[in-house]
Amino acid sequence: MIKSLHKRNSELANSKRQLEILSNGIFQNGDLPKFKDKIAETGQFPLKAKKLEILQINVGYMCNQVCEHCHVDAGPDRKEIMTRQTMQQCLEVIKNTGAHTLDLTGGAPEMNPDFRWFVEEASKVGVKDFIVRSNLTIIRANKKYYDLPEFFKKHNVHVISSMPHWTRGKTDKQRGTGVFDKSIKALQELNAVGYGMPDSSLRLDLVYNPSGAFLPGNQASMEKDFKKALLDDFEINFHNLFTITNLPISRFLDYLIASENYEDYMYALIEAYNPQTVKSVMCTNTLSISWDGYLYDCDFNQMLNLPVNSKVKHISDYNEELLEGRTIMISQHCYGCTAGAGSSCQGSVT
Ligand code: SF4
Ligand code: SF4
Repeated sequence: MIKSLHKRNSELANSKRQLEILSNGIFQNGDLPKFKDKIAETGQFPLKAKKLEILQINVGYMCNQVCEHCHVDAGPDRKEIMTRQTMQQCLEVIKNTGAHTLDLTGGAPEMNPDFRWFVEEASKVGVKDFIVRSNLTIIRANKKYYDLPEFFKKHNVHVISSMPHWTRGKTDKQRGTGVFDKSIKALQELNAVGYGMPDSSLRLDLVYNPSGAFLPGNQASMEKDFKKALLDDFEINFHNLFTITNLPISRFLDYLIASENYEDYMYALIEAYNPQTVKSVMCTNTLSISWDGYLYDCDFNQMLNLPVNSKVKHISDYNEELLEGRTIMISQHCYGCTAGAGSSCQGSVT
């Protein structure tokens, strides 16, 4: 198993260094336009937050996997974990927010020792869509997680899981040896309790992200291919496939630089830039909360340590009215959200 950039003491573990890379070189010498100049061409700068719809809470960076392209730089060696006190502050906000979606992410959120307590409490509030992003293998990682499908069902959680491909080779290359077989088993167990079955209200969606320095294909046609292959080969059902573009930060940035693909990838993102996507990028309706309660425009900005541009910085001072209309913090990584059909945690945006 590889180690996180933090554990390796990589220079890219430092978010300032990542932001420098994203602003220097091809962007400094004018070969490529900066994101702010690109969106200004269509009068969309500065990018502003609209009404909050999705509250995304990152309950910690610990994970049982160390995927090659992880934007969180998560892994078993990351110890940042949300405390119950911060969860309690989040619960107060969940009770009062106008957001219709609550989205728990990590790391592997299930590894937070207070995860089940938090899900139980949050599910009582009755948000319309309560998402847990589960990496699937956690369900098979240890006996104590075997009952997660039943637990999710009990609390009517919407499960969204990464599944980079329907073949073992491509999945294991990106996520680690043995991940494919464990993911298949976990999906079958989720199906067995009703998740992902046709007409079932227990939602199970999968997320695809490319395994190299290229952009995802068309979401609808990839969904068809995934559905056919998983059903034919393993009798697995799921509802939707979301295609996500890898953003050039953290371990994916490390991969791009090490494989000498960084510049070509940035050219490809800008070549595919679609101004129609800008009004719908996820930071316009989402707020991201870090394990220690700080607020960010999105999970990517959280990892780059770009906090919200607002007087309100922490969940303990939360004020939805003050946060609405804030100017979004952007840099060149944002090109990942506006290429082609656009990309968000819910897949394409157009
Ligand atoms: S991509 Fe997801 S499953 Fe993989 S290391 Fe990152 S948080 Fe864990
Ligand atoms: S990376 Fe974050 S801030 Fe940038 S466009 Fe995407 S969602 Fe918005």
